[in-house]
Amino acid sequence: MGLDERLEDAIHEHGGRMTEQRRVVLETLASLNSHPTAAELYEIVREKLPDISQGTVYRNLKRLKELGYVQELDYGPGASHFDARVEPHYHVRCLECGRVADLEIERRPAPCIEEARRAAGEWVISGHRVEFVGICPKCRGTETEQRDREGS
Ligand SMILES: [Zn+2]
Ligand SMILES: [Zn+2]
Repeated sequence: MGLDERLEDAIHEHGGRMTEQRRVVLETLASLNSHPTAAELYEIVREKLPDISQGTVYRNLKRLKELGYVQELDYGPGASHFDARVEPHYHVRCLECGRVADLEIERRPAPCIEEARRAAGEWVISGHRVEFVGICPKCRGTETEQRDREGS
């Protein structure tokens, strides 16, 4: 489903309105492939909607996540990163600066989720995550171009 159709769905959910603010939050996130934190996204959204508050950006991100338009990449105690690309895909995260990028490799089936469920006793296993980590070109000093803000 294209972004336009998804936006239309989001606009009409519960017969309600999708506010201009929510639309701009989603469109802005979808235009980035930098997986920003909420604070970073707020800074970019504010260029378009100078009056928007940080709380509004956070609330809209939370709602868009509940609606399935946004994926939250939760790395524990640090700030989550957000991604408007919601189909499963792999990420690589920089251990120095925390930057997150997509890895365009084939996604193989979860190897052992049933086995994990059996072994986990009273835990409820809801999924599994493969995470690639390393050092990004910026931190290595080898980055030749800034691509993060190009379209998706
Ligand atoms: Zn880095
Ligand atoms: Zn991603």
